[in-house]
Amino acid sequence: MKQPRIDALLIAQEGLRAVTRESIGSMQLRKLNALLACEHARGGFYRDLPERLDSLSALAGLPFTTEEDLAQNAPGLLLCSQAEIRRVLSDATSGTTGAAKRVFYTEGDCARTVELFMAGLGELIFPGSVTMICFPFSGPHGLGELIAEAVGRLGAKPLKLGTALSYGEYRAVMEREKPDTFVGMPVQLLSLLRVCGRGSLRRALVSGDACPPAVLAACEEILGTRLFPHYGSREMALGGAICCPAHCGMHLRENHVIAEIVDREGRPLPPGETGELVITTIGMEAMPLIRYRTGDRTRVIPGRCACGSEVLRLDSVHREDSSLLAALDERMFSCPAVADYRVERRAGKLFLEVLTCADTPLPVPDAELVCRPVAATDHALYPGKRKVVER
Ligand SMILES: [Zn+2]
Repeated sequence: MKQPRIDALLIAQEGLRAVTRESIGSMQLRKLNALLACEHARGGFYRDLPERLDSLSALAGLPFTTEEDLAQNAPGLLLCSQAEIRRVLSDATSGTTGAAKRVFYTEGDCARTVELFMAGLGELIFPGSVTMICFPFSGPHGLGELIAEAVGRLGAKPLKLGTALSYGEYRAVMEREKPDTFVGMPVQLLSLLRVCGRGSLRRALVSGDACPPAVLAACEEILGTRLFPHYGSREMALGGAICCPAHCGMHLRENHVIAEIVDREGRPLPPGETGELVITTIGMEAMPLIRYRTGDRTRVIPGRCACGSEVLRLDSVHREDSSLLAALDERMFSCPAVADYRVERRAGKLFLEVLTCADTPLPVPDAELVCRPVAATDHALYPGKRKVVER
């Protein structure tokens, strides 16, 4: 059997002889204890935690790190010097203080994320192929740039398109460059496929934290191939877990991230049960976190993968607060005429603006709709993270 790419990555990055639950566990404990000892020695944010743990299971006894902690204590959480920082990502938290959550990366953090992207993308792109990248390009070491570097190092051509083009502009690039692979958000992919047609596109890697099943199914039907979901977050240096050819969950970068699943009270849940993902980022140079509550809901798929890897797999991931949008996505995109939509809530009532490919009745009886036929306009994609706008 061919060596799974995630196993090859762990061997290359960690020097493991074999990738087994035992070798992964002892590596994780060693790296976790090194982090605890370092925090103790430098008097960092985690200085009051034990200096070492006897087993990985003892991790469950340590306190959580929250989004608020990141907003309030960024300097104390920073393990490297300011001079080593290559990238800072900040975002307003959903907490009460309104302070910006900041996450820092070093050159090494970014390099290892690129290697993870290469392992994930290596399943679907090949030397000479052309990949359209529809994630934001925000400057050196941004998400789009790291993906483009991974694509280039695999011998393929990256098309750095971002998210701000109009459908007409995307279509022109697709006709000129004939990309065979798409990398971006699943709703964007479906929108492009419905408005511009499949063209030369055959395969796609999509962000796994916003994958409504109806959208995935519609994309796969048009492309005629299975999608490769990827899950990542800022706290994991943008790359987290990759899909293998078995298409059954996403393999986590376990040399950099220890995953736990907990219930609403924070109690550990066994493999197979769905709860909140808690991460301990033992492999991050700039800003390792211990038991960070991600707010993402998923489960660990029990057992060995059909690809042969024992590396832990996460099932599809959903945000705690995304249930309304997920339900709307299911409902809207199950109608083949819908290209995209955005939604506002005013005084408790939903207002939807819908881009449509055809003049077909839409399945939303309890909301006010404005429908715009996209084929007749040169409308831009609705960019960025999808959310319900409150007015
Ligand atoms: Zn696998």
